[in-house]
Amino acid sequence: MKRSICAVWICALLILLTVSACRMQQPDPIGAQPDPTEAAFGDDTVEAIVVSTPVVTPEPLPTVPPTPEPTPEPTEVPITDPVITLIEGNSIRVPADFSFSDPGYFAEDYLGNNLTARIEISGEVVPYVVGTYDITYSVADDEGRSTTVVRHVEIVPVEMPEIVMPPEKTVYLTFDDGPCGNTALLLDVLKKHNAKATFFIIGNKGRKDMIKRAYEEGHAIGVHTYTHEYKQIYKNEQAFFDDFWKTQEVIKEQTGSYTRIFRFPGGSANTASRVNKGIMTRLTKIMEDMGYRYFDWNVASGDASGKPYTSTDIRNRVVGGLKKHSDFAIVLQHDIHLQSVKAVDAILTWGEENGYTFLALDLTSPVVHSEVAN
Ligand SMILES: [Zn+2]
Repeated sequence: MKRSICAVWICALLILLTVSACRMQQPDPIGAQPDPTEAAFGDDTVEAIVVSTPVVTPEPLPTVPPTPEPTPEPTEVPITDPVITLIEGNSIRVPADFSFSDPGYFAEDYLGNNLTARIEISGEVVPYVVGTYDITYSVADDEGRSTTVVRHVEIVPVEMPEIVMPPEKTVYLTFDDGPCGNTALLLDVLKKHNAKATFFIIGNKGRKDMIKRAYEEGHAIGVHTYTHEYKQIYKNEQAFFDDFWKTQEVIKEQTGSYTRIFRFPGGSANTASRVNKGIMTRLTKIMEDMGYRYFDWNVASGDASGKPYTSTDIRNRVVGGLKKHSDFAIVLQHDIHLQSVKAVDAILTWGEENGYTFLALDLTSPVVHSEVAN
């Protein structure tokens, strides 16, 4: 019984405490709005609300384990034969010229090592002879793998300007074997008549200043030779070219440019070159293929014949030739022969009186080619 009473008392006490606690949590009916001042001072009520607000802690993001960088598979470099590359390709067209320079090449093994220095080249190009040539390039790597490629080289003729036929009674006076002391006198006479002429010069002659003067006064300058030594010049093609280029250099020195017109020493029909069979047949073609034009003559003054011609004789011979070749005439004279130079005034006077025009040769002038005799 005592126990029951005690339990009742405890229950009553608990109820009382509970009711009391509930009353304390009743919101103030007047102060339904929270007093900002109270909040500012952080009283218990605010604290209690804060405490009661469930704190949402963000779920930690699932951590993705870093994907490891893929380690590259060891790539196998395919083993191949060396590769030769020909600059400008396996087939080239080259204008005929005195020399040929290979456009270039290089070689690599399969690892990219440079093998260019090991390339072996065979085959020959004759650069001044029109035709097709093969050059072979071979290379081997350290393990003996090898490659061979072929380049086709086509040597083609140089394109030349078209020949333009001049009006009738056109005369091309040409003077070989100068320059010399007589050349100044000749240039004075030509100037007096306002006539133009062509000088096929010898490169090793002393009066080189006359080349410059002739060029500046509107005359044409052509190659004749450097030495005029037939045996030397016509020994072989290379000897001819060497002589030709030494003369070209003299001309360039005096005029500022090379020339493309020339006259073979002795003319293209010379027999002095017979020490070398067939060389005139070859050279006449080769030089034209390379873009040079040679001129023989259809009127010979005879001034170098060794005969004792006076200037009147020479004048008469030339005038006779002009009458015969009234379409156009290429006259051979030599300024090293004074009688020939002295004849020029009378030739020009006759020409003027008879309607002739005296011009310098160029690449469009008509040619006279004698029949090659070797
Ligand atoms: Zn000559």
